[in-house]
Amino acid sequence: MERIPFNRSTPVGKENEYMQAAIQSGNLQGDGEFTRKSHALLEELLGVPKALLTTSCTHALEMSALLLDLQPGDEVILPSFTFVSTVNAYVLRGAVPVFADIRPDTLNIDETQLEQLITPRTRAIVVVHYAGVACEMDTIMEIADRHGIAVVEDNAHGLFGKYKGRMLGTIGSMATQSFHSTKNFTCGEGGALIINDPQYVERAEIIREKGTNRSQFFRGQVDKYTWVDVGSSYLPSDMLAAYLYAQLEAKDEIQNKRQQIWRRYHLELSDWAAVNDTRLPIVPPDCEHPAHIYYLLLPNLETRQALIAHLKARDILAVFHYLPLHLSVMGREYGGEVGDCPVTERVSDQLLRLPLFYALSTEEQIRVIDAIYEFQA
Ligand SMILES: *Cc1c(COP(=O)(O)O)cnc(C)c1O
Repeated sequence: MERIPFNRSTPVGKENEYMQAAIQSGNLQGDGEFTRKSHALLEELLGVPKALLTTSCTHALEMSALLLDLQPGDEVILPSFTFVSTVNAYVLRGAVPVFADIRPDTLNIDETQLEQLITPRTRAIVVVHYAGVACEMDTIMEIADRHGIAVVEDNAHGLFGKYKGRMLGTIGSMATQSFHSTKNFTCGEGGALIINDPQYVERAEIIREKGTNRSQFFRGQVDKYTWVDVGSSYLPSDMLAAYLYAQLEAKDEIQNKRQQIWRRYHLELSDWAAVNDTRLPIVPPDCEHPAHIYYLLLPNLETRQALIAHLKARDILAVFHYLPLHLSVMGREYGGEVGDCPVTERVSDQLLRLPLFYALSTEEQIRVIDAIYEFQA
């Protein structure tokens, strides 16, 4: 029997053709034709003033920390249940992470805790739309606005998801996207910074271009370019943008396929979940998610590990997800202790992600579902 991986990234259409075109153009550096096309398409699809491709979501997060001008000792509130880059980007600037717990339903930052975590040093709230299901953005934006705090959406899971009809990544001051191999749209390694607050646009271009005004120079706005600010090199090669552009063009095809797979899991697994004390994903009525993750919440760590082993014995790879950041080696240095974020601690033990990728066939998915039915929690 063929092994079913957790994720497999495959081209869906014109990736080869566009990469060949990028190679033939003789311009493999950043900000070439396919980068410009990707920017324009993202700006159009999201309806945002500026989208900038980056080398990763991690780097887009680092750009957001530079744009917010974080100083040592500034505080950033973020969920403990997220990827390490969500916190590292700010810690690199000397900011102090303040970990919030998550809601038990959506596994997103618990907005009811924000008020008590805010201090005079709080500069930003970073939210993660887990599995592409929106955080409670109305409440979060209202609290942030009232305290004069910026909101950054780490939208690595949520591209093209919606909250009350609004695209995720378009609500905070800025948002970050990931085009890593494991995400819905990919170029292997890549990302984007989405800027919604126009005050950050000019400086974002400078930071991304090694602290120079090179972008303005290329538009003919200045007659030579020079070092004007801090910065780094956050542009991907146009060859990667070519791959990505083909994926973005196939948006509907990719999304339809993922939705189909997500819905089949949801429908087919509900009977099993009901008799195995297992909870399936909860999507509030005002959220439309992009089918990034299908997860199960098993009763406890032991059953979760037993199901991983059960599936592995049948050549199916299912994986757990984030370990609580506040209990990591670094998190403990910032004072994290067991019990600080009880929902995060519990969910981290219980959660299991099932294979979900564009090229997953119906036969493969049925094999996964059948294997789960052979398991008793
Ligand atoms: C994948 C991911 C990242 C990092 O993305 P890279 O493009 O690999 O840097 C950051 N945050 C979240 C929530 C992610 O899922």
